[in-house]
Amino acid sequence: MANYCCGCGRCTVGAVTGPLMLITLGVLFALDQFGRWGFRETWPVLLIVYGVTRAVAYIVPAHNGR
Ligand SMILES: [Zn+2]
Repeated sequence: MANYCCGCGRCTVGAVTGPLMLITLGVLFALDQFGRWGFRETWPVLLIVYGVTRAVAYIVPAHNGR
């Protein structure tokens, strides 16, 4: 796991990515259980969420301009 975080945007995004994926997974399972969408239809959302975090990590400044 990521123990190192210097506080810059990129490290923050990196630290948030894991929990965010778990939260997304939980929401998808909840939808599978209680909603109208099965996990079979919603799983690509995980790829989208992960892709967005990679894009944001690329855009935000890293390590205070280094
Ligand atoms: Zn950093």
